[in-house]
Amino acid sequence: MSQQNEQSSVTVIGLGPMGRALAGAFLDAGVRTTVWNRTPGRDRELVERGAISVGSPEEAVAASGLTVVCVVNYDAVDGILRRDAVTAALKGRTVVNLTADTPHRAREAAQWAAEHGVRYLDGAIMTPTVTIGTPAGVFIYSGPADLYDEHRPVLDALSGTHTHLGEKICRAAAYDIALLDIFWTAMAGYNHALAVARAEGITARELAPFAQGIGAILPAIFEGVAEEVDDENFSDEGSPLTSTASTMAHVIHTSEAHGIDAGVMRAAEGLARQAIGRGYGGEGFHRVAELLGRR
Ligand code: NDP
Repeated sequence: MSQQNEQSSVTVIGLGPMGRALAGAFLDAGVRTTVWNRTPGRDRELVERGAISVGSPEEAVAASGLTVVCVVNYDAVDGILRRDAVTAALKGRTVVNLTADTPHRAREAAQWAAEHGVRYLDGAIMTPTVTIGTPAGVFIYSGPADLYDEHRPVLDALSGTHTHLGEKICRAAAYDIALLDIFWTAMAGYNHALAVARAEGITARELAPFAQGIGAILPAIFEGVAEEVDDENFSDEGSPLTSTASTMAHVIHTSEAHGIDAGVMRAAEGLARQAIGRGYGGEGFHRVAELLGRR
């Protein structure tokens, strides 16, 4: 336990799985941690570990210079922080909002904070609860750099990687949205694949090592595609869209022959076919990024 953390304090609002993980990591690092949650009782284990439980959100935010909020969405954040007593108690204090929502909601939250004298940083957590308090945790932030620097010692108590993405307040939420886009479409593909494989008599455990092989080729592909998209180079002789659309159709046909909904792959194939229809059949699938981005 560092002396700095012994002297520092934080309030955590929201004790769902993620809020509990955050509060637990602060406690483990020796940070004086005050907690509050809409539904009482979720703090029992944290209190046994040394957390300070209070009866209202205004008492919670008044207990520390820094309040970390982590609830389901910004409607829930607003419902807590925009009560008159809470807003008054927050004046001059800092909120780090680690709740996930849209860039638009991040801008609104910052505007509200500025109008009420609340110092505000937006942020997002990119890894699951089990990573919190370990080197595997990934946290991103945006907003005033001096505020980030000021509270970094307490945030560091969460362990993991912390990145300030810039002063533009909506930047962390924008990264979050892009990364969730990757994650959930990949998870939709994986779960669909498990259903099709099962229909073909292959168990999830049997497929898993090969699925991991597919995952392992992605980092290099992501990096290469990023460079090509930024450079507007869409050539891909090794894997042209005409060939890609054909392999996608095989998945759709096999899936639907088993009566399994192929909607996710149909959407992907539709994007490939649109690109082919516009004359890009000889290019790579990443032409889709450019086509979707046209307004
Ligand atoms: P949830 O997203 O289910 O959020 C649960 C928390 O939100 C509880 O504290 C709950 O309070 C509170 N809440 C819900 N509705 C309201 C409301 N109307 N008013 C006040 N509080 C409300 O679970 P998590 O804790 O897992 O997630 C919290 C945030 O962290 C989310 O934005 C999520 O996207 C993000 N996140 C979560 C990850 C994870 O692995 N779990 C990974 C990365 C990010 P109550 O107990 O009273 O219902």
